[in-house]
Amino acid sequence: MKPNNLLIYNTLHRQKELFRPLHEGRVGMYVCGPTVYGDPHLGHARPAITFDLLFRYLTHLGYKVRYVRNITDVGHLEHDADEGDDKIQKKAKLEQLEPMEVAQHYSNRFHQAMEKLNCLPPSIEPHATGHIIEQEELVKEILANGFAYESNGSIYFDVEAYNHKHRYGILSGRNLEDVINHSRDLAGTEEKHNQVDFALWKKAQPEHIMRWPSPWGDGFPGWHCECTAMGRKYLGRQFDIHGGGMDLVFPHHECEIAQAVAAQGEPMVRYWMHNNMITINGQKMGKSLGNFITLFEFFEGTHEKLEQAYSPMTIRFFILQAHYRSTVDFSNEALQASKRGLDRLMEAFATLKRIEARPDGELTTSVAEELERKCYEAMDDDLNSPIVISHLFDACRIINQLADKKAHITPEGLKALRATFRTVTFDILGLRPEADGSNEREESFGGAVDLLLELRAKAKADKDWETSDRIRDVLASLNFEIKDTKDGVTWKLNR
Ligand code: ZN
Repeated sequence: MKPNNLLIYNTLHRQKELFRPLHEGRVGMYVCGPTVYGDPHLGHARPAITFDLLFRYLTHLGYKVRYVRNITDVGHLEHDADEGDDKIQKKAKLEQLEPMEVAQHYSNRFHQAMEKLNCLPPSIEPHATGHIIEQEELVKEILANGFAYESNGSIYFDVEAYNHKHRYGILSGRNLEDVINHSRDLAGTEEKHNQVDFALWKKAQPEHIMRWPSPWGDGFPGWHCECTAMGRKYLGRQFDIHGGGMDLVFPHHECEIAQAVAAQGEPMVRYWMHNNMITINGQKMGKSLGNFITLFEFFEGTHEKLEQAYSPMTIRFFILQAHYRSTVDFSNEALQASKRGLDRLMEAFATLKRIEARPDGELTTSVAEELERKCYEAMDDDLNSPIVISHLFDACRIINQLADKKAHITPEGLKALRATFRTVTFDILGLRPEADGSNEREESFGGAVDLLLELRAKAKADKDWETSDRIRDVLASLNFEIKDTKDGVTWKLNR
């Protein structure tokens, strides 16, 4: 385990706090996943990349992280959780598909986009439809504790009763009067005792396809139930981190807190983390604004607002160039600038392989140590990825000086610099060279070749000539040119 000095901003307390997990060496983390009735868009990329960065960093520090991200495949209703049409069902009718076919199709698309963005898959990806029983259990507990009521076959959370005993609004900093004054008076609210009450279980109308039996009749769970029920199932009654986009703070996460406290008498989550939103040319993204761009449209450059295609790594790098709690505005100019920045990093890494070390070099391992220390410091300050990137750019300047022989570095110094640059860029930031890059093939198996050469060096040291010759011959037959120099072994791929 590396020392943990990680400060994260806890939305619940509106301040940065030193991250201390509940269980030694282990972290439980839950992130709200996609609702699968449409192609993944930019709004999906930001939480995915933000919490991938956190997942990668915690893992890098040596924690065993259980990362749970759900798939919302119960078709919830438009407007808020309680009213309007079922979005998955609507799509299914339109495309003449089974609702689960729609959900599967868009889950697959989401996974493809995540893979392209190099977001690691979560440890568990529970589906809401696979956890109806757990959600019903949660509703039963809340009913038994007197914080919910039945009305016409639906179950509603009694916000006033809850607020009387606990406080509703602690996450979003609202009080009940604010919420009442700001809630819209929607049709169908006559079922509720109070317009701020939210559905825990909704009675299914005859035409509703996605429905399940329950003690209260056929219906489907309210949107907020799944994350509380599945978080508790896989991470326990109390767990470390719950994340999502800022747009989920109210009502979704506020309702999650109320449900957990109403059911078990104590909160479930210790650190709430929220990423800020993305705008496009200064505007909110929306279908009616004509700036609703899906991730695949970005990758292929097929949307009319895009001047060109933007690769997944350009999108990832662009998102990492902003702190996750600040807003990000997408524009063609900004993305093109990101592409140039990313190219600079990848070129520097390729250059790093060609640099020749000098035993009498004035630069030593301290260059890498300094880079590592500064990058940790920035990551520990609430995942400050833009500062990490600026330190990598500083390292690029040193690398270019080395390439131009304006500076020289010792063999150990060079080895350490390569390792640190690789760790920060690829392991922590999760960037990777892309298929259209010239050094892509070398990079993707570069680590494997380095490992084979390490094994060869060990075999040689052990006088195991058979193994060392075999490694050299196999690499040679695959067109790798291996050179033993006085400063160590170098390799390149001849095409
Ligand atoms: Zn959620």
